[in-house]
Amino acid sequence: MKRVKIGNCLLEIIQGDITEQDTEAIVNAANERLIPGGGVDGAIHRKGGPSILEELRAKYTHCPTGEAVITGAGNLKAKYIIHTVGPIYKNGKSGEEELLASAYKNSLLKALEYNINSVSFPSLSTGAYGYPLKDASQIALKTVISFLKEYQKPELVRFVLWGEEAYKIFEHTLENLLT
Ligand code: ADP
Repeated sequence: MKRVKIGNCLLEIIQGDITEQDTEAIVNAANERLIPGGGVDGAIHRKGGPSILEELRAKYTHCPTGEAVITGAGNLKAKYIIHTVGPIYKNGKSGEEELLASAYKNSLLKALEYNINSVSFPSLSTGAYGYPLKDASQIALKTVISFLKEYQKPELVRFVLWGEEAYKIFEHTLENLLT
């Protein structure tokens, strides 16, 4: 694990499972129709139980790419789930970078709206949506660092990487951004 201070806030990167995190909120890599899928989304709905989908259905019809919605977290340790939709990677020239940055930023804005002090993110768009990990790690970390500098909140942002390769890429990107 690696932890750095950005002003008074903490930024952490760990290798692990997003569904096991005890931060106040965890972020889900959802799809626009908010229909439970595979990857992070499947794991969250499986472990969190049916109340998450019930709340999504009651409150929302869909979520456009780059935006975020919020529900409770059912049986998970977190209190909230922020569901955001990252872009599907096509060729890198179809607005993917801006949309990925928006997904991170709008998730953090949603956290502030609910006075949430700690948030865990998976690496959005880098599974089924095919975003190259190295590029995605730069957008993810740059966006979160500039958000923390600007808003000085939330107190803790944790990236939870599934697997050693993803963890190493994020660690390397973070070191480069801070030097
Ligand atoms: P997307 O559809 O946005 O690409 P995925 O859920 O397919 O989302 O994958 C996003 C990233 O999350 C991938 O790098 C994948 O390896 C990782 N991942 C899968 N399961 C978990 C988990 N339980 N915790 C954290 N990360 C996970």
